[in-house]
Amino acid sequence: MLPLVNVGHKSLGDYATLVSRGLMDEIRRLAEPLQGKRIVHVSATAFGGGVAEINYTLVPLMADAGLEVEWRIIRGAEEFFNVTKAIHNALQGDPRSLTPEEQEIFRRYNAENAAEFAADDYDYVIIHDPQPIAMIDAFPERTAKWIWRGHIDFSTPNPDVMEFLLPSLRKYDDAIFHMREYAPRADDLPEIVIWPPAIDPLMPKNMALSPQDAAYILDQFGIDVDRPLLTQVSRFDPWKDPIGVIDAYRIVKQRFPEVQLALVGSMAHDDPEGWDYYNRTLEYAGDDSDIYVLSNMNSVGAVEVNAFQVHSAALIQKSIKEGFGLTVTEALWKSKPIVAGRAGGIVAQVTDGVTGWLVNSAEECAQACIEVLRDPAAARARALRGKEHVRRHFLTPRLLRDWLVLFNRLAGNDTGGSTITVV
Ligand code: UDP
Repeated sequence: MLPLVNVGHKSLGDYATLVSRGLMDEIRRLAEPLQGKRIVHVSATAFGGGVAEINYTLVPLMADAGLEVEWRIIRGAEEFFNVTKAIHNALQGDPRSLTPEEQEIFRRYNAENAAEFAADDYDYVIIHDPQPIAMIDAFPERTAKWIWRGHIDFSTPNPDVMEFLLPSLRKYDDAIFHMREYAPRADDLPEIVIWPPAIDPLMPKNMALSPQDAAYILDQFGIDVDRPLLTQVSRFDPWKDPIGVIDAYRIVKQRFPEVQLALVGSMAHDDPEGWDYYNRTLEYAGDDSDIYVLSNMNSVGAVEVNAFQVHSAALIQKSIKEGFGLTVTEALWKSKPIVAGRAGGIVAQVTDGVTGWLVNSAEECAQACIEVLRDPAAARARALRGKEHVRRHFLTPRLLRDWLVLFNRLAGNDTGGSTITVV
């Protein structure tokens, strides 16, 4: 059997006053006909990145809503994760295609994982991202509904690699993307559903943390808490552009010599490229003692990420490609000024000039940070608007509701007027 992730318990009732009462009532109503349905989430890793972040809350809340839900992790070795990283990069636009050997490795690991998976034990099988997408090939007779959930930016995929995955994708009942622009342009696709992910306001990462506690924590990392700090929280990945963040910081530093920069990034075990890029970032930072390059190796866990987000004058997410950008959601939820790349799901969250800053270059990123540092009150006004946008659209109860609507649709149940976006 594929390994289970232990997600513990969460109670929907704890969220009742953080979101609207109407939403909570809707969740209860939609969950009723689904009591006892068996659901499994399958993903590549339980640690690092957006999928893990979402599932640690979504899975226990599905359970609290009365579903029998599990989250399982596929097995893989470095040769497999090298291929899946190449696929990830290609789907985000990298022109490099897969060699026949790489295709063979991908198929082989998917088949091996499928051999350890009892698909008929479930009513709904949810496969996250491309890594396990081809497990479905091993199940020509399916009793469960199979749903594929894509979390990355598919707006300009490498067509060869998309073509390679399409035969598997076509077998699903539904495919869910963050944005309309991500749906592949191909024939015979499954039903395409669009909804954004969400964050958990009650996780240690997102719980209110006092400025004093945040400063106390950052002091332990050597940050001078009396001088302004810019932070990007992200995996070390070319699409997150940490090098561009350093360029922007260097421009800001000419105006505000006291400014500091933190690049905080965890290393996911399915991301072999991460260390290379981490080392490149370190090298690029050089001997500037006001740049802090930190990772989970420095004990930066959820509370520490929270502290960096709470304490920073501005949060940067200078992505070039971005599936959704939960770090942007997290920044807005903490009422923090956000300066973010005009990419992927970030534009669904940040309206330039209203809830934050959207930038296309290191120069624009620097100018936006300078504006934040020059006029913190105006920056905070934008951030507060952003927080209410997050409350309405990007907290986990809304995501749970969307899943419940889809399960009911697939079961042929009346959803009582609750809808999701089907394209
Ligand atoms: N994250 C973290 N520690 C880090 C870097 C990232 O906990 O050092 C979290 C971050 O707070 C966010 C998630 O990982 O919740 C990243 O999700 P996002 O959608 O921003 O990007 P992805 O990694 O999925 O491309």
